[in-house]
Amino acid sequence: MTASNQVKLKPGDSIGILGGGQLGRMLAMAASRLGFKCQVFSPDPDSPAFEVVLHATCAEYADVEALELFANDVDVITYEFENVPAAAAMVLAARRPVLPDYKVLETTQDRLAEKDFATRLGIATAAYADVSSVEELRAAITRIGLPAVLKTRRFGYDGKGQAIIRDGEDLDRVWIELATKSAILEAFVPFEREISVIAARSADGHVECYDVTENEHGDHILKISRVPAAISDALAARARSIAETIANALNYVGVLAVEMFVVPGADGPALLVNEIAPRVHNSGHWTLDGASVSQFEQHIRAIAGWPLGKPVRHGAVTMTNLIGNDVNGYEQWLTVPGATVHLYGKGAPRPGRKMGHVTEVTPRSEK
Ligand code: AMP
Repeated sequence: MTASNQVKLKPGDSIGILGGGQLGRMLAMAASRLGFKCQVFSPDPDSPAFEVVLHATCAEYADVEALELFANDVDVITYEFENVPAAAAMVLAARRPVLPDYKVLETTQDRLAEKDFATRLGIATAAYADVSSVEELRAAITRIGLPAVLKTRRFGYDGKGQAIIRDGEDLDRVWIELATKSAILEAFVPFEREISVIAARSADGHVECYDVTENEHGDHILKISRVPAAISDALAARARSIAETIANALNYVGVLAVEMFVVPGADGPALLVNEIAPRVHNSGHWTLDGASVSQFEQHIRAIAGWPLGKPVRHGAVTMTNLIGNDVNGYEQWLTVPGATVHLYGKGAPRPGRKMGHVTEVTPRSEK
């Protein structure tokens, strides 16, 4: 096994990617542009990332033999989703460097551990409480107040595994419907806007943050990202410094995203961290067309032991997700001047399924 800070790949070396979704696909495409080979591991035979690599392993994450063969074939391993089973990551880490270190997942797979981690770093979050029974839910509501958001500690994404609790709600029913024994109750945040910071950190501790992105959600799913966020330079600097503090505290190698709420405060707008994603992130897709180095390339550079790029933004950028049937409008998007269309090659456009995205850049000279 090689220590993460000893990884130094050469063009032609091979990168293993766990997970075969659009993030894995775009990572593999960025790696390919830098001369690397990629091998994707995913249990889903219809993985969009399989389409862009020569070597793929279609096997379950519990298949130790398949994991070992995969590890033997590659020089470094990374992942495109945060719910990589710890046991699979340990099998791989015994053979090849896994970056970011899979121990990061212990913090980021669990909303309670994540909030405790932020709190220890002095970073503000919504008020929260650990809840493992309906009695504890009642006690937490007394402390935190309503409205509040009840979330499963693990495996929640795009609003799945969460419920907003308002006055008069039948708490027994809410608790049964969440169908978990470990949850977290968060105060409902009356945010002005939602922002995220995409940060990259190399093994030698160098951090590069992209300009702050402002995110608009619909049905809990990211719809539109705009860069730069409509916040003051001072608040943007604070947001980037929070992301940098988190990346350093995790001894992180690769790209991570930190989602934050902008809330009104006595001394002007303040920030609350909502979530840390230990991977490339949908709110960073704008960097593919809107910056000199994309988040995908930055991640590949970091895990390859290559210098990070200093990302220069090409102008004001809007990224629109094509969700479900939105993708049927791709031909119209193709005719929009200045728009760049990305389609993920997925099959049926089910509701809520991310099928592609479109980037529109207003060059600086036109602003
Ligand atoms: P999450 O799965 O935690 O990223 O939540 C998905 C979305 O739900 C967020 O982007 C917010 O729009 C909303 N949300 C999550 N937590 C809260 C909260 N405590 N208060 C208000 N809105 C929230």
